[in-house]
Amino acid sequence: MIRLKNARVIDPSSGLDAELDILVEDGVIRAIDRPGSFDGTAVAESHDLSGCVVAPGFIDVHVHLREPGFEHKETVHTGSLAAVRGGFTAIAPMANTDPVNDNAIVTRFILDRARSANLARVYPIGAVTKGQKGEELAEIGLMAKEGIRALSDDGMPVMNSALMRRAMEYARMFDLPVISHAEDAALSKGAPMTEGAVSSLLGYPGNPNASEEIMVAREIALCRATGARVHLAHLSTREGVALVRRAKEDGLPVTAEVTPHHLMLNEFSLLKGGHECVHHQPRTDYKMAPPLRSEQDQEALREALRSGVIDLVASDHAPHGCVDKEVEFELAANGILGLQTTVPLLLELVERGVLSWSRMIESLTVAPARLLGLRDLGTLQAGKPADLVVLDPNVEFRLRREDLVSISENSPFIGRKFKGKVLKTMVGGDWK
Ligand SMILES: [Zn+2]
Repeated sequence: MIRLKNARVIDPSSGLDAELDILVEDGVIRAIDRPGSFDGTAVAESHDLSGCVVAPGFIDVHVHLREPGFEHKETVHTGSLAAVRGGFTAIAPMANTDPVNDNAIVTRFILDRARSANLARVYPIGAVTKGQKGEELAEIGLMAKEGIRALSDDGMPVMNSALMRRAMEYARMFDLPVISHAEDAALSKGAPMTEGAVSSLLGYPGNPNASEEIMVAREIALCRATGARVHLAHLSTREGVALVRRAKEDGLPVTAEVTPHHLMLNEFSLLKGGHECVHHQPRTDYKMAPPLRSEQDQEALREALRSGVIDLVASDHAPHGCVDKEVEFELAANGILGLQTTVPLLLELVERGVLSWSRMIESLTVAPARLLGLRDLGTLQAGKPADLVVLDPNVEFRLRREDLVSISENSPFIGRKFKGKVLKTMVGGDWK
């Protein structure tokens, strides 16, 4: 048995926010009660967590683990290690591997790798279309049987609306959410940054907000037509937020996520110093899809997360090597690491009063658990698996390259000072 004492326990699933003790036995939460309640119980381990926060283990519905196919960038093992170091006890990897996770064999391979890594719980996301080519549906039923928890062609928007409609009809049969990377590929083609002040200043073609708005509107229309659960990945525009708000008011099963980088950065971040190797261009660590948008968009995303219009935060952890990033801005790969920086960045928003503790934790626990249909996770209720995270909100540190356990190191946050750190992560009763 393990006893955790004197922590501030915050569990939005049961409305808990108080100083409490927790007893863990045989991989499950045995009981939670007032400090001192379990002092008479014989335990193998006891931890005094005064000053710390304990929350249900965090769940990230949007990561790229790169295995199979791109093991020089990340593997299921290294990505899962980054997850538990970052406070995440469950992660859902996207299907854009090589081969693509569009059939049960690849799904089983990823689950096998996760089992041997024995770190975070891994819930694969299956592709919507074969090879993510947008031409014919993937083996949705077989993948569902093997254990996928959602469908997505993330990164390769399904431009064929009839095919997306069919995918949603199938998804509904298996109660799987369809996760949409909402981007009109024709509008964003050849545009490495958002259309706006900075693209004009630097002379790059711009990706307009309309690229997202059009596809968010389409997914909502298809949700209305099919009744499938639709989840909008990494929302980046105020127009996208407004459409999601209205869809929710209409009672549609639409949910949305935002990344920490879209909450913390905006298009002006691109002006902060060029790359060491290729001069006179923005740092490619600020290049992502969707791109960093305007300050108004950033403010709308923060407000939407606060109010619950945006349900959850996902890292979009996207490891890339130097050959993908140390090139011209137009050619550089999209995306940055996220698993180890998401929690410290969100704690910054809590510290600054932008986000409440309970809303931050809800967006990393209850909301993602609901999306993936993980009924036992995202909660500290007695009898549930002992997946939890211990945070120290007062530790100050500067993020160093060597702190990142990913194979890749593409993060614009290296060198940034943080207040608030993940101390320990427990999965199924074991410290990881
Ligand atoms: Zn995406």
